[in-house]
Amino acid sequence: MSDKKITALYCRLSRDVEPAGESNSITNQKEILETYTKDNGFTNIRFFVDDGFSGVGFTRPGFMEMMELAESGKVSTIIVKDHSRLGRNRLIVGQLLEEDFVRLGVRYIAIMENIDTANGLSEFLPIQDYFNEMHARNTSQKVRATFKNKGNSGKRLTTNPPYGYMKNPDNKEEWIVDEVAAEVVKRIYQLCIEGLGATQIAKKLSAEKVPTPSEHLRNTGRKQTQVTLVPCRWAARATADILDRMEYIGHTVNFRSTTKSFKDKTTIDLPKEDWKIFENTHEPIIEKETWEVVQNLRKGKRRQNREGKISMFSGMLFCVDCGAKLYYCTAKDFGESQHYFTCSTARCGRGCTTHFIREVALKDIVLENLQSVLREVKCNEEKFARKMMDKSTADQRKELAKKRREVEQIDKRIAELNILFTKVYEDNALGKISDEQFQLLSNNYTNEQTELREKSKKLTAELEIEQEQTDGVEKFIAKVRNVTEPKELTPELVHEFIEKIVIHQSEKVSGKQRTQKIIIYYNGVGIIEDDTNTSKSKSKENAA
Ligand SMILES: [Zn+2]
Repeated sequence: MSDKKITALYCRLSRDVEPAGESNSITNQKEILETYTKDNGFTNIRFFVDDGFSGVGFTRPGFMEMMELAESGKVSTIIVKDHSRLGRNRLIVGQLLEEDFVRLGVRYIAIMENIDTANGLSEFLPIQDYFNEMHARNTSQKVRATFKNKGNSGKRLTTNPPYGYMKNPDNKEEWIVDEVAAEVVKRIYQLCIEGLGATQIAKKLSAEKVPTPSEHLRNTGRKQTQVTLVPCRWAARATADILDRMEYIGHTVNFRSTTKSFKDKTTIDLPKEDWKIFENTHEPIIEKETWEVVQNLRKGKRRQNREGKISMFSGMLFCVDCGAKLYYCTAKDFGESQHYFTCSTARCGRGCTTHFIREVALKDIVLENLQSVLREVKCNEEKFARKMMDKSTADQRKELAKKRREVEQIDKRIAELNILFTKVYEDNALGKISDEQFQLLSNNYTNEQTELREKSKKLTAELEIEQEQTDGVEKFIAKVRNVTEPKELTPELVHEFIEKIVIHQSEKVSGKQRTQKIIIYYNGVGIIEDDTNTSKSKSKENAA
């Protein structure tokens, strides 16, 4: 028994999420698994049970125990009732099946789906995994619904009022102005209007020894925080946050942020369209007009052209041939319909063609393309997700796995070098090797380690980017859900959905007819190919 490999039978039930009906109960799972093993001649069986664990995370005790045994080569086969018992996170399940189980020589069977890795992996498996994950996402949305109701009713979701306010001691639901802090808030807005950026304001306040928001809370006995090492050190983030907040004009803002996804609980900021704003819920500190001026000033971070104009496309258009940004050309005596973009390399006379395109023509093309993309996603989210994932998964996943292995190997070598270094150090101390030899060896080790550390850092950063890309499709669909089909293009829409636009040189077809290829890269998903909508568009050309 001891050295014979185990047939691991894995059961999982997440109580709050799945109906604790008969078909999924642990007893039922066990029965099905037991019958199956008897019928198919599996011996030395052992159950691993996670009762009350969702399939999204993988730190389940039963699962971990089973994987530990598998890692030490003690498991021959893992059997589950249905594939989603193993987990509901597509990426990790995919990695388990395609890499870990293969590496450990573990056979995997999901009875209901008729999956058996001994017969090879079905092509449809990634799609099955995708739907398992969708299920988890839907249930997580249900859990959030309660929270949402509260926020939609106008109740504040934040527990602590922002700097400048405090809770009314007689009524905890009510915010009142904290006079001392409110003065600082007013000052920050004033400094911004005078032309200072968030960083400069933070520097100024630090120099003037103004207590920071958390120090202020401690000074007034509202929070027990540790004494800061350097007092009155304002972070640019803090001043920027104060300049962004709508609470200062008396509004309550709910749903400003959320957790990253049902898989990752990191908080992320939500787009403004998702915010729920309840006006005049408390006394304002800043006047509305002042607040709006500040918002406009802060938005002006994008570069203006020589006439001081900014287009909604500024900084987003690139020349396909030389890679440079397109420059926005306007002139006082021209109407808006005459504004155009041109390759900045060509403009400086450094040998590229103009890549000329009028802003109005571009607006039409982008709007049309965006409308059709929104329609496609809204019409069938699953089909769209599948299309976008097919485009990337297979190759990306292979590349990802390769990089992950490389990082592992590097980490291992770094650990080895540490041991080697300790050894030469000891040898030198004991007089076994000379100081010169020691110097030489230790230099070699240090150099190798520095090199490896840099490489590992670079790879890890790349891995993070790849992970973001796989999340991109989900985020994109969620964004589409929140907008109605636009009738016209706004800067907000452009920035929300589009990453960049690559412009080709136009080609003359006949007479005044020209075609110009334009490639739109959408945020998080890249190019969206469509059967009906080609990226080639005719640009409407006025007689020059
Ligand atoms: Zn160019």
